[in-house]
Amino acid sequence: MALIVAKFGGTSVASPERIQMVAKRLIAIKQAGDDVVAVVSAMGKTTDELVGLARAISKNPPKRELDRLLSTGEQVSMTLLAMAIEASGYRAMSFTGRQAGIQTDTDHSKAKITLIHADRIITAVKAGVIPVVAGFQGIDQNGDITTLGRGGSDTTAVAVAYGIGADVCEIYSDVDGVYTADPRVAPRARKLDQISYEDMLELSGAGAGVLQSRAVEFARKYNVVIHSRSAFSDAPGTLIKEADSSMEQAVISGIAHDTSEVKLTIRHVPDMPGIAARVFSALAGNSVNVDMIIQNISEDDFTDITFTCPEDDLERAEEVIQGSLERIGGRDYVVDTNIAKVSVVGTGMKSSPGVAAKAFQALAASDVNIQLISTSPIRLSVVISGDQVDLAVRSLHTAFDLDSDKVFEETMLSAEELEAKKNKGR
Ligand code: ADP
Ligand code: ASP
Ligand code: MG
Repeated sequence: MALIVAKFGGTSVASPERIQMVAKRLIAIKQAGDDVVAVVSAMGKTTDELVGLARAISKNPPKRELDRLLSTGEQVSMTLLAMAIEASGYRAMSFTGRQAGIQTDTDHSKAKITLIHADRIITAVKAGVIPVVAGFQGIDQNGDITTLGRGGSDTTAVAVAYGIGADVCEIYSDVDGVYTADPRVAPRARKLDQISYEDMLELSGAGAGVLQSRAVEFARKYNVVIHSRSAFSDAPGTLIKEADSSMEQAVISGIAHDTSEVKLTIRHVPDMPGIAARVFSALAGNSVNVDMIIQNISEDDFTDITFTCPEDDLERAEEVIQGSLERIGGRDYVVDTNIAKVSVVGTGMKSSPGVAAKAFQALAASDVNIQLISTSPIRLSVVISGDQVDLAVRSLHTAFDLDSDKVFEETMLSAEELEAKKNKGR
């Protein structure tokens, strides 16, 4: 008998019908003789809608209130799922983050889990109940509700799996596993049977949204095995676990892309010690998450400084730069919101020279201009124009021999959606 955590994302609980499908899946796990704890995201695009509501009221809503608001999305889906399970004759109980014993730090909107007291969940499981935990939220030392960053229900699931000593943390979504690239962008992407924590962490960090990188980090730290699989089929997905000899020894494990960042260039600043320190200290002080940085060669003792940051931080970044231009002696700054970061990832890169050359050749052959480059021992990232992201991902995917013969097909459509699609094609 296994103890399983099963997390369902927004698409999987987007409608009452889909919630009923999830209930059926959970009951099937019970009927097979295993115990299960469910973790859910908010229904469909609820979180985006709640963010929109808050922004319609205030440009900069207090973070405490925003977290309180966003946490309600998951509280709707958890109760509906518990009701659906009960309606099928099985016992269920929903738990908010606080009730599930998830404690976090006070960093609203990107809080880190510090402790999990899963006693209530364990007691419920022992009593034959299917606990349903609201993802994405916890409680801080002041008793305030915090959220764990977008996609944070994945982290809740891994934390709950650790807290109750589950055998596996199953993360169900609208794809049937981790692919060598986002299959919606590169339809020839290949599903991986397994991937190491290290490679997955780098892919998630570089934008592969299939798993939140915090979740992978947590899983690696506490050795929780993740099974990423489809909510709409029974096919086995991808296991994310410690590297072992059974894993494919590919140089490149995948290509990730990220279109959520923007690029800022401060022009004509004096090229002298202390300028970069001032700019980036001010940005850090205002919680701007800087990613890539490049400083041009100076001409006549002046230079340009370019950096990227999440679009969500743009307003704060502009305020900081505007406020420090005069002090640092810069002329002006420009913003480019139409950029994408594309990354080639693989632990095998460490021992295989030539990855950068091959990537640059592939991009050049597709006429993709590279604006910025950054590297780590197991990742190469380039910033390109946002319009060319699909082309760049596919070119790199082909260049690194990752293409599969099979073309990715949607498996997530409901009966009604399939019918609509068929009718459209007629
Ligand atoms: P959920 O809402 O269930 O948490 P997400 O939308 O967060 O699901 O994650 C699933 C999506 O991740 C897929 O629809 C897919 O487009 C995207 N994705 C990005 N990179 C990858 C990848 N390497 N493998 C699989 N899916 C990926
Ligand atoms: N509902 C939250 C989000 O949309 C958390 C999650 O889905 O994992 O980001
Ligand atoms: Mg997700």
